[in-house]
Amino acid sequence: MTTSAETAVHNGKLFIHTVGCQMNELDSELVVAALRKHGYELTADVADADTVLFNTCSVREHAEHKIYSALGRLKYSKRKRPDQVIGVMGCMAQKDQKLIFQKAPHVDLVVGTGQLSEIPLLIDNARENRERQMAISLARRDATRQKVADSFESYDPLRDPEMRPSAFQAYVRIMIGCDKFCTYCVVPMTRGPEQSRSPKHIVQEVQQLAAEGVKEVTLLGQTVNSYRHTENGREYRLSDLIASFHDTPGLERIKFVTNYPRDMTDDLLQAVRDLPKVAHYLHVPAQSGCDEMLKRMKRGYTVEHYREMMHRIHETVPDCSVSSDFIVGFCGETDAAHEKSMELIREFRFKNSFIFKYSARTGTKADAIMLDDVPEETKRRRNNEMLDLQNEISEEDNAARIGREYDILVEGPSKSAVKAGDDDSIPQTQLSGRTRCDRIVVFDGNRRLTGSTTRVRIDDCTATTLIGTIVTRELQHTADGGLPILG
Ligand code: SAM
Ligand code: SF4
Repeated sequence: MTTSAETAVHNGKLFIHTVGCQMNELDSELVVAALRKHGYELTADVADADTVLFNTCSVREHAEHKIYSALGRLKYSKRKRPDQVIGVMGCMAQKDQKLIFQKAPHVDLVVGTGQLSEIPLLIDNARENRERQMAISLARRDATRQKVADSFESYDPLRDPEMRPSAFQAYVRIMIGCDKFCTYCVVPMTRGPEQSRSPKHIVQEVQQLAAEGVKEVTLLGQTVNSYRHTENGREYRLSDLIASFHDTPGLERIKFVTNYPRDMTDDLLQAVRDLPKVAHYLHVPAQSGCDEMLKRMKRGYTVEHYREMMHRIHETVPDCSVSSDFIVGFCGETDAAHEKSMELIREFRFKNSFIFKYSARTGTKADAIMLDDVPEETKRRRNNEMLDLQNEISEEDNAARIGREYDILVEGPSKSAVKAGDDDSIPQTQLSGRTRCDRIVVFDGNRRLTGSTTRVRIDDCTATTLIGTIVTRELQHTADGGLPILG
């Protein structure tokens, strides 16, 4: 195929590698959708592709190293294939900018999180002119907040249903950026100032997704519960936003991530309690169980604030699952401080915790003024101790569910079914889905149940998964609108 200007020839095959958070997954979905409109076709084999994109993460150094290694591996293939266009997009592009061209001179394109809409044009330019293309937003300290905010565009084009990872689950961005400036975190620099999208646009997007068959939306924001937008003289908070699209026909479940502890307001908890489609699940990272560490991290709350928030969550929504994030080995973290984080996990018995070893990041306050003084070996040990504790708690709490029945929103063949070479000509397979409290459940069933809600009894468990059996031995309506099947 040729580019729009009918000059540079390429095979139209696009390979994209995505790392990082859900925000990145959504960005990749949207970029691929836009490129498909320009005639590109996705390939899973990098060796097949004349256009290669890396959607990157800067939160930890390890993720960046992996991308530089992957770029290094393409150096030789590019020599044999000079028309190939290689692009780096996302957080690392915004953070490292020209450094990417210095470290990997065969890269053609560097595109920050705020310029994703320009990618089709930039690829064309790179290919036609054989010139490097770079599009990034203003740095936070180089201009006023408004100017920097204007340079980060929320990228939410009309979506291509074919590109969604699952036909009935979709991410919806409600905010971009972050203004919290936790001392360890690079996100306020790579994603820019906090900006909430207009409720009108979000509601339209949800309605369109539901009309296309989407049953579950996950609203995305770095601190999603800080959402605020004033439209026609009315202020919308997250609770108002959810209420305004909750009754959309076809929509069955609403989730939102990630929450900031200080912004967990009562109106939001009441919305979780009162609106039947909202999941009883909140991801609210604590990061540490030690006040001294929380202060150094500039998280803006103490352990007592967090405890008070957990109390309100359980008082308002008694069966709510809560998950957390923790950083181990942050600057100055002693064994005693680490033990306080372990104590917090014992006290709140999170559904699960994402645990990260502290990684010093250029551009952050911690990197500038604190000493990364916890040895790697200690970080690793604390990481493992915390993982073991969390797994023990998750398994005990899952075991307490054995014998109970839950309504499961079925997501499709389980990961192990897919790994084992799931054969879609055979209707029966191991399916995976989630309870309203976001617990993963696997069970055997007909793949046509995907997208429907099915009652499952729990027979067994691991730390991460409930294992069950369908209890409905009657005709079930499937999500595809086909003939009902025996559940
Ligand atoms: N906005 C979310 C919040 O505040 O909870 C999370 C965003 S961040 C991309 C996801 C997680 O990465 C954080 O919750 C934190 O635990 C971890 N993280 C961020 N910066 C880190 C760093 N420099 N080293 C290790 N972990 C880090
Ligand atoms: Fe990073 Fe803190 Fe913002 Fe989360 S709230 S994105 S951890 S700065």
